[in-house]
Amino acid sequence: MPELPEVESLAGFLRERAVGRTILGVDVVAIQALKTFDPPVTALGGLTVTGVARHGKFLDLDCDGLHLVIHLARAGWLRWRDDLSAAKPVRPGKGPLAVRVRLAPDDEGLAPGFELTEAGTQKRLAVYVTKNPDEIPNVATLGPDPLADSFTVEALKRIIGGNRTQIKGLLRDQKVIAGIGNAYSDEVLHAAKMSPFKIAATLTDAQIADLHEAIVTTLRDAVERAHGLAAKDLKAEKKSGLRVHNRAGQPCDVCGDTIREVSFADSSLQYCPTCQTGGKPLADRRLSKLLK
Ligand SMILES: [Zn+2]
Repeated sequence: MPELPEVESLAGFLRERAVGRTILGVDVVAIQALKTFDPPVTALGGLTVTGVARHGKFLDLDCDGLHLVIHLARAGWLRWRDDLSAAKPVRPGKGPLAVRVRLAPDDEGLAPGFELTEAGTQKRLAVYVTKNPDEIPNVATLGPDPLADSFTVEALKRIIGGNRTQIKGLLRDQKVIAGIGNAYSDEVLHAAKMSPFKIAATLTDAQIADLHEAIVTTLRDAVERAHGLAAKDLKAEKKSGLRVHNRAGQPCDVCGDTIREVSFADSSLQYCPTCQTGGKPLADRRLSKLLK
């Protein structure tokens, strides 16, 4: 799933390639992906892409004041196409293609664009056409951006203060902090040497400062590594940069201990016992439930 660093990089990628270009048309193949109907998606035709922004994990293309907002969800991706002029017309079907955005040809006659694809059967990719991105409920309720200057240790202390949830869940909650998902919450907690099940409210001031440092450093490093990469290379870069996430069974880079995993119904987390839990493996809740 693309998280803050990948979406930031996609925003930069589109800023370089799409800004200044006119939209020829937006073809919605997966009709369930389109979450708004007024203004219609056809209203984007003829408008020029004037800016690209990121809100949490949302991509926001400003097209002369009308916004095309994209949430790639768990299995969605953006694929840039240098020339769509010979592409076949899109047809609703079972394939991964959800939306195609066609841009006007350049001087060389190439008509680039990009496609939003979504793998798997669970379709969660979401596209919105709106004059005001803040009217999208999941954008309006986003917590602070961890790369913003206002995201200080004090700000994190206010967020955490009295919160009785486990720190892993808190980091992933978009209403609390925007942009961190399953992968980078694992990475942040490993960098902070903190158990994913630690209750937020029990963190000391020193631990909150460490957690803040881990959040900012982990995300900034990932943004830096992803900077300037083509959209197609982002997934591999994300994978190669991860130290614990999806690396169960492999040795920890920091201490050499074996990275472990806790599985849930529809996700899993990975951590290093030596770095994060005093050497003790965490109970696998799904397993312990079965054993009862
Ligand atoms: Zn370790």
